[in-house]
Amino acid sequence: MRVRLIAANWKMHKTVDEALAFWRAVRGRVPAGVEAVVCAPFTALHPLAVERREGDGVALGAQNLFWEEAGAYTGEVSPVMLADLGVRYVIVGHSERRQLFGETDETVNKKVRAALRHNLVPILCVGETLEEREAERTEEVVRRQTAAALDGIAADDAARVVIAYEPVWAIGTGRTATGEDAARVARTIRGVLADRYGAGVAEQARVLYGGSVKPANLSQFLAFPEIDGALVGGASLEADSYLQLLDAAN
Ligand code: PGA
Repeated sequence: MRVRLIAANWKMHKTVDEALAFWRAVRGRVPAGVEAVVCAPFTALHPLAVERREGDGVALGAQNLFWEEAGAYTGEVSPVMLADLGVRYVIVGHSERRQLFGETDETVNKKVRAALRHNLVPILCVGETLEEREAERTEEVVRRQTAAALDGIAADDAARVVIAYEPVWAIGTGRTATGEDAARVARTIRGVLADRYGAGVAEQARVLYGGSVKPANLSQFLAFPEIDGALVGGASLEADSYLQLLDAAN
């Protein structure tokens, strides 16, 4: 049985005080059947790690990492540094990073491998642009991104990777995919896993939907057994809204 996961992607939001206020409002209120992950900016990770107590029910996630362990890489943060804080998840290959910061299928693959080497769970983001969707290339793009990101990864590691289907045109726009479309792409993603690793891994791995998810529309995705939760930007910034998402997923 796959446990549902609601991952908050705060992006470049929240000072330390704002992050702590959110944490204090949410901790201890996570329904038993759902996993909660907050992917905070780097500056908030350490204070949140210090604040975190057993029983809070919320895991810490980062939004990016570099693939080397240490060295002359000004401005970068390594998987060792994240693991050292007790960070458990890390978003990899978000479309904003692919579009604005030059990430490619190849660098995404390096980051996924680096995360797994250090026992971090990658939340791998895949998804088509509007142009690709209109050209009916969604399945091809998602298949390519998924396969490339998993290059060189063994089956037991692949089963731990969380894959978020995030159509680029749905991110921050208020437009979502339909539940049917998201479920179809989730099946495509599991198809890639099944081809490469067999049915067991495809059954085990969690697939999320992301893109303008809100408490009012989450059930449209969770109605499909192929979808195991959501990666949420805007609607994850307020504690109340995030708690509503967790309740809706329970
Ligand atoms: P959104 O962002 O929920 O604000 O659309 C989702 C994401 O980018 O992960």
